[in-house]
Amino acid sequence: MPQHRTPYFCKDPACGRPFQVNRFDAGMSCPAPAGTIACPHCGWTTSADPDTLYFTHAFSEEEEAILCGRPGKGRPAS
Ligand SMILES: [Zn+2]
Repeated sequence: MPQHRTPYFCKDPACGRPFQVNRFDAGMSCPAPAGTIACPHCGWTTSADPDTLYFTHAFSEEEEAILCGRPGKGRPAS
């Protein structure tokens, strides 16, 4: 298996797209703000565990299609 991924769905009703969230212990001296999850698509943010750093990444088009249950895009045309 590749790296562990945690799908998270944007709570903004105008967006609602999935993205990937990687969690890190905020104990390590990192300048990134802890305790906030931000949608990479629309910029929507939500509060989360203040002791955890959350790095978010958009899924690829294929991965997003699979997560959303949309067939076709991620499959070979042949
Ligand atoms: Zn969003």
